[in-house]
Amino acid sequence: MRIFDPHIHMSARTTDDYIAMYESGVRAVVEPSFWLGQPRTSVGSFVDYFDALIGWERFRAAQYGIRHHCTIGLNPKEANDPRCREVLAVLPRYLAKDGVVAVGELGYDSMTPEEDEVFVAQLALARDVGLPAVVHTPHRDKAAGTTRTLDVVRDSGIGPERVVVDHLNETTVAEVAASGCWMGFSIYPDTKMDERRMVAILREYGTERMLVNSAADWGQSDPLKTRKTGQAMLDAGFTEHDVDVVLWQNPVAFYGQSGRLHLDPVPGFAEREPLAPATFEGNSVLRGARV
Ligand SMILES: [Zn+2]
Repeated sequence: MRIFDPHIHMSARTTDDYIAMYESGVRAVVEPSFWLGQPRTSVGSFVDYFDALIGWERFRAAQYGIRHHCTIGLNPKEANDPRCREVLAVLPRYLAKDGVVAVGELGYDSMTPEEDEVFVAQLALARDVGLPAVVHTPHRDKAAGTTRTLDVVRDSGIGPERVVVDHLNETTVAEVAASGCWMGFSIYPDTKMDERRMVAILREYGTERMLVNSAADWGQSDPLKTRKTGQAMLDAGFTEHDVDVVLWQNPVAFYGQSGRLHLDPVPGFAEREPLAPATFEGNSVLRGARV
């Protein structure tokens, strides 16, 4: 089973996770930029974070045989903070960089006027620079938030085929399916959406424009939920081809619209040769010499 996790926050995860993900079939990921769990206090904090996403984290993933890409944007939670909104001026510089495959994550948290303004501005940016957009739906008041999200996407002039609306469930999937946008599902250990419910949604709506992710981050989450969903699909009678469409071909098609995916295997990794100690700006993932 080859797996592309289209939404996972690897900088919050350990090297054990990278090893387990590789062993489960994960060969590529997209890490959307998001908040830290507590507020940032200046634009400099975003700049260092964005640099780490396109630099160190990409290097670290490759040490474990996984191709890492990211999305860059001002997340809805911090769109309400004037100290953070200044980052909008910095975004175009990052959206031009290799490895940046979309603008995001965008959308609504509490649906404030500030969030409206920042969401609209970043969809316009995605349209102008020709990148797809990753749109998060709010965890509270999800149905109303999804309706409003789709209205804003429609008014923005960006093609629905270039937008994924993420963190969907049974109550929001129909509206997004009808909109022409891609449908994203985050599979969690004990909240929101699990693999069994995901299989039921795939039975009802089919596999087209469907993206399944683990959304793993610093919170309670499981970076192997993509693999577990693939297994649940097989157990329910879906074919290996269906699983490949959902877990590999669909994310490749969606993020491939950026023209910036790197999916060739990491050299030397599949053969399990001992890798020469690699460094990024003089630093390696090793702590002392390999035994
Ligand atoms: Zn996320």
